[in-house]
Amino acid sequence: MGRRLGQHFLRPAGVERLLKLIDPRPDQTFLEIGPGRGALTLPLAERAGRVVAVELDARLAAELQRRDVPRLTVVPGDALKTDLAALVPSGTRLVGNLPYYVSSPLLRRFLDLRGHVTDVHVMLQEEVARRVASPPGSRQCGILSVLYAAWADVDLPMRFPPAAFTPVPKVHSAVLRARFLARPRVEIDDMEAFEVLVRTAFTHRRRTLENNLRDSYANLKENLRLLNIEGSRRAETLSVVDFARLSRALRRAMPT
Ligand code: SAM
Repeated sequence: MGRRLGQHFLRPAGVERLLKLIDPRPDQTFLEIGPGRGALTLPLAERAGRVVAVELDARLAAELQRRDVPRLTVVPGDALKTDLAALVPSGTRLVGNLPYYVSSPLLRRFLDLRGHVTDVHVMLQEEVARRVASPPGSRQCGILSVLYAAWADVDLPMRFPPAAFTPVPKVHSAVLRARFLARPRVEIDDMEAFEVLVRTAFTHRRRTLENNLRDSYANLKENLRLLNIEGSRRAETLSVVDFARLSRALRRAMPT
C-alpha cells in the first residue's frame, strides 16, 4: 500500500532542517497531515505544546498511537474527509510532508482553515510548490496560486533532493510556506463566486479569458470592456485584483 499512499519518509537530517524552519514553540499547537512513522511528529511533540496528527494508513496510525507519546494525539482517517478545524484550537499551525498524489485537494482544503490556522509549512513536489507560489500574472500560475495569493503570503523557503527521503522519490521536493492574512489581500465580497470565476477562467489554459468565460457569464464583454481587461488575454495574465474586480462586476450583472 506504501507507494500508493505517497509514503516517502523524510530522513533525520531533513527533519532537522525542516524543524529549524518551522521553529515550534511550547505554547503552540500543531496539526500534522500524514505523520507516517513519526519522523517529524516525534521531535515536534517534544518541542511543541501539542500535536494532532491525521494519518490515513490505519497500520501506521496504530503504531504511532501505541508509542503513547506525550502531547501527541493521533487521529486515524483521511485528511480530505476529516473535519480538521474541529480537531484543533484556533491559532494552530499546520505542517506535513504531504502525500503528493493528493496535494492539490489538500492545499485547497487548507485554505478553508484560514482564520483557524495561522500558517502552513508543507512539503510538496517542487513543481507543484512552485506553481502555487507563482504570483498571479506569471506564466506558471494557476487556480491555487490565485486563491493562495488572495489569502496568504506564500513563499518557498526550502528545497529537498530526492535523496532526503526513503524510499527515494522520482521528483525534487520543496516546502511551501503560507502565512494567512487577517483579511484577504483584495476586496472579495463573495468567496464562492470569486473561486468559481477563477476556476472557470483557467478551464482551458490555452484558451482566452473570453472563450473560457463566455458560456457562464452574461454581459461578459461589456464588463471586460468597462474594467479595461482584454478578452483575448489568458487567465494566467490576470492579477488577484483583476479577478476580484471582475468577480464583483459579473455578480452585479447577473440576474437574481
Ligand atoms: N510525515 C512522514 C515523514 O515525513 O516521514 C510521512 C510522509 S509521507 C510523504 C505521507 C504520509 O501521508 C504517509 O504516511 C501516508 O500514509 C499519509 N497519507 C496519505 N494519504 C493521506 C490522507 N488522505 N490523509 C492523511 N494521511 C494520508
